[in-house]
Amino acid sequence: MKALGPIPAGYEADGDGRLTIGGWDAEMLVNEAGGTPLFVYDSRRIADQVSRFRAAFPGVALHYAVKANPYAPLLEAMAVLVDGFDTASAGELGKVAHLALPISFAGPGKRDQELETAIRAGITVNLESEGEADRALAIAQREGLTPKLAVRVNPPFGLKGSGQKMGGLPSQFGVDHDRAPALVRRLIEAGADWRGLHIFAGSQALHADALIELQHDTVALAASIAEEAGHPPPEVNLGGGFGIPYFAKDQPLNVEAVGDALAKTLAGRPKILADTQFAIELGRWLVGEAGVYLTRIIARKESRGRTFHVTDGGLQHQLAASGNFGQLLRRNYPVAIAGRFGSAADEEVTITGCLCTPLDLLADEAMLPRAEVGDLVAIFCAGAYGLSASPTAFLSQPMAREMLI
Ligand SMILES: *Cc1c(COP(=O)(O)O)cnc(C)c1O
Repeated sequence: MKALGPIPAGYEADGDGRLTIGGWDAEMLVNEAGGTPLFVYDSRRIADQVSRFRAAFPGVALHYAVKANPYAPLLEAMAVLVDGFDTASAGELGKVAHLALPISFAGPGKRDQELETAIRAGITVNLESEGEADRALAIAQREGLTPKLAVRVNPPFGLKGSGQKMGGLPSQFGVDHDRAPALVRRLIEAGADWRGLHIFAGSQALHADALIELQHDTVALAASIAEEAGHPPPEVNLGGGFGIPYFAKDQPLNVEAVGDALAKTLAGRPKILADTQFAIELGRWLVGEAGVYLTRIIARKESRGRTFHVTDGGLQHQLAASGNFGQLLRRNYPVAIAGRFGSAADEEVTITGCLCTPLDLLADEAMLPRAEVGDLVAIFCAGAYGLSASPTAFLSQPMAREMLI
């Protein structure tokens, strides 16, 4: 038996013991969407996360990192909740351009065409290298425009204990911190509208202490770069990295503790940051737990003493749940049999997708209530890095449906 991840708080069974999402029966949602596999995103849960952030971080701007989930109706819902969108391609820019919020544009491989699109639209470009700065300035000059440019910094520290360590290393992301002041001066001398600094050092942190230390160091670094450059930054994007529990023993992040500590850090910040607007950019923490992936059991089979549920979904829609999205070790996501959400686990099963590869595991040797062909399997924590972070063309299976409720 291998443990399942913790089902996010707030998902409940109805009177018949069936899973409800946002108060709706899961089976009914599948009917309405036209079938499985289906991603359901609960807008109420997203709004609740935003409220929680607002209460914990008063005065700090909140940006949504579009790459976590670019589903159009979700972006529309997000547009009335957050203060800006952070994008990482012209494709993502195109998805939020009509939503009338400030946009920033990061990413290590921006093409000239993408820079031109962003500069023309008055979007803040987070520069990842001096070479990119040269190209952006040349494009702006050619177009006769004043570009909005921020400098993404490759910090000398990383986020401790995070899923992906970034920072403190050679990197394709950002300008090494000791070269940032010179670049800032150059941008200002060239007549650009310097928007400030962007410092993102990691993702999926569950320990408040690691984030508190990181934000403290990030504010100090921003101040020292600004002092060396001789210019106060209008904005400092402190990154994000707030994580959610996926696996057994993961504990939720104490966001309120992080907010309290940041308030103290900002209260004592160096003078050069006195008028700076601080922002935090979040993807996963805002939307991850709001999503559920629903897939139906096509076959129930026994093999050499093990029971398998083979479903109509799989890693082509939900790569991360299969353990193949950057995880070192495969562990089970939170998974349930939707129609028996209120029932006790009484058999050990392995749940697979329908692909012809043994990598396509959705739950391995998990204890769950008995299920039959036709039953719905629910995989939680599917709201971030789900469909758009999966190899949907692999094996030419049908696309998953998506629905925002
Ligand atoms: C991916 C990314 C994010 C979002 O990270 P989450 O872990 O989803 O919150 C934010 N900022 C940058 C620069 C990113 O690349």
